[in-house]
Amino acid sequence: MEQCYICKQYNYCETHHIFNGSNRKKSEEYGSLIRVCRKCHTEIHRNYELRSELKKQAQEKIMQAENWTIEDFRQVFYKNYL
Ligand SMILES: [Zn+2]
Ligand SMILES: [Zn+2]
Repeated sequence: MEQCYICKQYNYCETHHIFNGSNRKKSEEYGSLIRVCRKCHTEIHRNYELRSELKKQAQEKIMQAENWTIEDFRQVFYKNYL
């Protein structure tokens, strides 16, 4: 049993890649992976607002860890979520 990143309950968890598509590998490189229960995982993939919020938080975390500006982030991820 693990704690779900979203609902904080202890449950069986799955990995969600915060940046997907062509940035899926970069999610792995930069640690933008979260462990979530099945219910929350389904919700993330259904809920655009929730996905956007997670991307925004992950971008802030990466920019802080790498000491990047928005422009630096854009160079690597080709997007800006802030
Ligand atoms: Zn959950
Ligand atoms: Zn997912």
